[in-house]
Amino acid sequence: MTNRKLINQLIQLQELIVARMQKKAAMPKAPLGALDENIALLGADLPAAIKSHLNRLLQKTPEAVVPIINENCSGCGIQLTHSQINDVHRADDLHRCLNCTRYLYYPSEIVARERVSRAYGEKAPKGIARFSAPSLMVAPLVGTTPEEVLGELCQRMQREAFVEDGKHLLELALQREAIISTAVDSGMAFPHVRGVDGGGLAMALGIHKKGIHFGGPGRTLTRIFFFMVIPTATSAFYLKLISGLSQTFRERDAREALLSASNEEELWKVLVRQTRKSIR
Ligand SMILES: [Zn+2]
Repeated sequence: MTNRKLINQLIQLQELIVARMQKKAAMPKAPLGALDENIALLGADLPAAIKSHLNRLLQKTPEAVVPIINENCSGCGIQLTHSQINDVHRADDLHRCLNCTRYLYYPSEIVARERVSRAYGEKAPKGIARFSAPSLMVAPLVGTTPEEVLGELCQRMQREAFVEDGKHLLELALQREAIISTAVDSGMAFPHVRGVDGGGLAMALGIHKKGIHFGGPGRTLTRIFFFMVIPTATSAFYLKLISGLSQTFRERDAREALLSASNEEELWKVLVRQTRKSIR
């Protein structure tokens, strides 16, 4: 196995293990059989030492395999030497950060923009407003395939200057869906792109009136899409955000409230109101 292939395998395994953590947080009683099977399958031919180190890291952080960003390990922030960076880029061997021991890879260059700094005296945003904005509400979504619907969300992220390249963002989001669908039962999905360079965690919310097949269990149609762009440095927020959203929206009434919002402005108000307690 080449090491480029190995690092891809580690990234996929990390996604599955984090998906398992999410699922457990969202639905404590949900069966994990299929996920466990996939994790076992994907990990089967990994050297035991790598597998156990990955697991140890993932106990502490959802980011055990991280990109190099601006010559730093994006896991712990330490600056890397040029020869270390070249080694990782060449991918002839698997490399770990000497400081935090995370596995390093060379990133695929999605850049999130820093948010405009607040004007003097303006209040810091609270709750869901730390991660999202009225301009990131997309209602209604009109596409009929996962690619079209994710495309609408990515376009909005680009239009609102949360990312520079919406098309590339879409490619990465689809690659992530190909590992395992982010749809859960109850008609929601949590598509995302991780390991992004810079910026803050940003979330768009899209509502599809009819629903589309997004890989949810059985013949579930997905109507509610929480789409997140996650710089590595914000991954701790990410799990909190996901568990807050899951906690709120596993209640049918809360989902119905989102689905019945008649425009984007109202959708934002509903989102803020519903998550007031679960996301601080
Ligand atoms: Zn590090």
